[in-house]
Order: sequence, then C-alpha cells, then structure tokens
Amino acid sequence: MARVYVVHYAEVALKGKNRPEFVRTLRRNLYRALSGMQPQVTLSEGRLLVSADGPDEKIERSISSTFGVAWFSPASIVERDLPKIRSSVLQLAREAAGSTFKVEARRSDKSFPMKSQEIAADLGGAVVEQTGKRVDLSHPEVVFHVDVTRSNAIVYSRKQGGPGGLPVGTAGRVMVLFSGGIDSPVAAWLTMKRGCVPVYVHFYLAPSPLATFESKVPRLVKALSSYGGKSTMVLVPFAEYQLATSGEEGGLEPSLFRRFMRMTCEALAPWFGASAIVTGDSLSQAASQTLWNIGAFDRGSSLPILRPLLTFDKEEIIGMARRISTYDLSLEEYKDCCAIITRHPRTRVKAEEVSDAVARLGLEKLVWRVVEGATLVTYNPSADELKSTPLSDAMAKSRAGVVARPPPLQD
Ligand code: ATP
Ligand code: MG
Repeated sequence: MARVYVVHYAEVALKGKNRPEFVRTLRRNLYRALSGMQPQVTLSEGRLLVSADGPDEKIERSISSTFGVAWFSPASIVERDLPKIRSSVLQLAREAAGSTFKVEARRSDKSFPMKSQEIAADLGGAVVEQTGKRVDLSHPEVVFHVDVTRSNAIVYSRKQGGPGGLPVGTAGRVMVLFSGGIDSPVAAWLTMKRGCVPVYVHFYLAPSPLATFESKVPRLVKALSSYGGKSTMVLVPFAEYQLATSGEEGGLEPSLFRRFMRMTCEALAPWFGASAIVTGDSLSQAASQTLWNIGAFDRGSSLPILRPLLTFDKEEIIGMARRISTYDLSLEEYKDCCAIITRHPRTRVKAEEVSDAVARLGLEKLVWRVVEGATLVTYNPSADELKSTPLSDAMAKSRAGVVARPPPLQD
C-alpha cells in the first residue's frame, strides 16, 4: 500500500514571485527522485503531500536527498473530525516506542471548532488513558503532531530533517570543472544545494575517453545524480594542448592549463545554457589555488567563477564528501587525473603572463579543436543508463542548445 508523507519546504527562501516556480520545481524533483515507486505529489495549503509505493527506507532516502525539503514525516491524512483524528493518533501511539510523549496541535484553519490547545489536551488525555504513556512537555520521547487544515487533518510523529537548500533547477546551470578528486564533487553538490544544475566538464589526457568511461569519474557523476537527477558531462581531451605547450616554462604550466580549462568552459557554456563556472578550489590548498593564481585564472573571464569550497579546510571538505557518499569513490585510483603536475609550481603567477602565453600559443583556437574532439555523456538514474555521443554531433543537431529542457509537470 502506498505510504503518505507530509513534506515541508524552507519558507525563508520563498519570497514573492519565486514561490510558484520553487514549488513547481520541487514537485518535479520529488517525482523524479521517487520514479519507479508510483509517486503522487500534491500541493496542499503550503505543504506537499507525497505518496509512493516502496520500502520506507528507499522513499525516505529519496525525499531526504531532494534539495528544497526542510523536513518531512510519514503521515496519515484523516477527515477534520475529532474522533477520527483521535483514533489516528491512538494508532500512532500504540506503535510508538518510548514512555513519554507530547501532542503538538496546530490549526491553520480557525473555523475548526476547537482551539489548538483544546485539541492537544483531548488527544493527550486519550493517549494516556489508552497506552499508559506519560505526558512530558519539555523532553518527550515522542511528539504526536496534528495539523488541522482547511481540507483535512494531518497526523504524524516521525519528523525528519531534509537537506534544505533550493530545488535543483531554480538557479540556472553551471559548468563544473570536475577532476574526480575529493573537492570538485563536493563543490558540485554545494551548487546543487543552492538550486544549480551542474554540467560536469572533465579533462583527460589518454588518446581516447575509454579509460575515463571505466574510471571513477562517471561513477562520481552517478553518485551525485541522486541529488541532481539526470546528469550531463563533457569529456575533453587535452593531449593537443599538451603538445602545443610542451616548451613552456614549468612553473607557469599549472596556471596556464587551468586558464585553458576555464576558456574551454566559457566556449561550452552557451551550448548548455550555463551562466557560471564552478571549481573545487580551496584557498591556498595547492600552489594553483593561492590568491594570486586564482586571480590569474579569473582574469578576463566572461562568466562568474564560483568557488563554493574556497574557505573550507580539507578536513571539512572530507567530512562533506563522506556525508554525500563521494569520498570513497574519489579515493579510487585514476591514472589520468594527475597529468599536469610540475615539480616547481609558482605561487604568485601574474595574470598578464598567462594571458600573454594564451595569445602567443594561439590557445583561443585550440579551445575549439579540443571541443570538437569532446564527448557528451548523459546519465539517466531512473533507467541507470549511461550514454555517450561525440559532442560535435549533439551540437550539429541542436542549434538552440545541447541539453533538453525538462518536460512540463504532468498532473
Ligand atoms: P583534490 O584536491 O581532492 O585532489 P581536486 O578536484 O580539488 O581534487 P585539484 O588538483 O586540487 O583537484 O584541482 C583544483 C580544481 O581544478 C578542481 O577542484 C577542479 O575544479 C579543477 N580541475 C583539476 N583537474 C581537472 C580536470 N582534469 N578536469 C576538470 N577539472 C579539473
Ligand atoms: Mg583540490
């Protein structure tokens, strides 16, 4: 039998005109997260009622990885009739562990003939009488909630925190420089938490993307898809870049390569409707991430560069990576990821030096050559299906953009 959940969203984010869009996207994302479990998601007086058919644990995992959910609970929806509400609360109380409880009643519709406190007193008395549990208003082991709305009463006791944030899809698209290390998956996750849809961009050195297909990189994208749904990644070969820059001074090399990655993202962004670039940089974590080298990366960018991890310590980042289940994957060996390493990286590269090298080596043109050799990878979590096509084919087919817009919500 289908299970019903009451799902609340974070009110603070919902000012004015954003609200309907926020709720529409949250509904669509819940449908997507629960796909395969016959979901129904209805809006009811400022909250969502979600029904789904499947193991509780699976349903709850799906809801708790949907950004925009403030909290949720399995619930019974009953008529606005005191005896019916009472019997629903008693049923919950009989199943509940613990010997102390409290009833929290709320009446969002004042036409209901009893005040909140009267409802709570009535229900509390019934629970004491029928189960022998004791009322404890300050430290109850279990709280029975009753929300009386205009159309029904919602009874629940297992309130769980959601991930907060904003629904993925409400804040636009971003190109995420995705290395497969510990940091960039966490950076992608944090931008999803604020409503962005990531397009992962990974640079590889091997002669073909085959080794990358079999590496942790797509596995990380799959892991992140439990938060972001359908995922898109671009695999960019950079062997040509390495050839073109082989005579360059070693200390400049990491900054030059990073500038090249940025320029490639700028070239790709319009095809994906993206309006920012995200990196996993954390201030001074590596020579390439000093304030000066960050400046050399950003100079002249046509898009804002977002660095969600800028001020986090490695230990804090590792903690987040563990919580979102990317840490173990990130530790897997992957030969390609350390391709651009120099023994003497400079910590104070000047932005002009990088810009001069870009012009001298004709890297603007090279960007388009590597884009032509790139591969588009999509992952559909509901079918567990990873597909790849040459990016140039997808670009040729689509004048408007490479990524399809999500379909409208079907009621
Ligand atoms: P870690 O620091 O845990 O090794 P990382 O992902 O931060 O992983 P760094 O070498 O610190 O790797 O790179 C800094 C940032 O540069 C990354 O977070 C990522 O945004 C970008 N980056 C590095 N290498 C690549 C790559 N091969 N493809 C795409 N982006 C990359
Ligand atoms: Mg890093």
